[in-house]
Amino acid sequence: TFVITQACCNDASCVAVCPVQCIRPRPGDSDFATTEQLYIDPATCIDCGACAYECPVDAIFPEEDLPPPLADFRDINADYFALHPLEDVRPLPVKRHRLPDATTEFRVAVIGAGPSA
Ligand code: SF4
Repeated sequence: TFVITQACCNDASCVAVCPVQCIRPRPGDSDFATTEQLYIDPATCIDCGACAYECPVDAIFPEEDLPPPLADFRDINADYFALHPLEDVRPLPVKRHRLPDATTEFRVAVIGAGPSA
């Protein structure tokens, strides 16, 4: 698993790239404004490394590469999810974009291309 440590700047760029959405809290979550840092759920993280690559302050480490002074953050991340289980967090609303109806557009194009009387 990956671990977020004390340099976390809460900019949440990691939240946006996590493919399994296991970084909390997210912008819009009730405790986002007051959190000291963001946390990774060790039970859900798939070790892809995307968050560490995205982090602007290099606050995220693979568990096995945690510098010794930051070792406590392994438990600090896990403890957050003991209090805020991932499955209890309501998904944020997803912005849906209505795609154009291709069939209608095709029909309009065909009718429009017909011979004029
Ligand atoms: Fe999410 Fe991948 Fe980071 Fe794990 S390593 S928290 S899966 S972005």
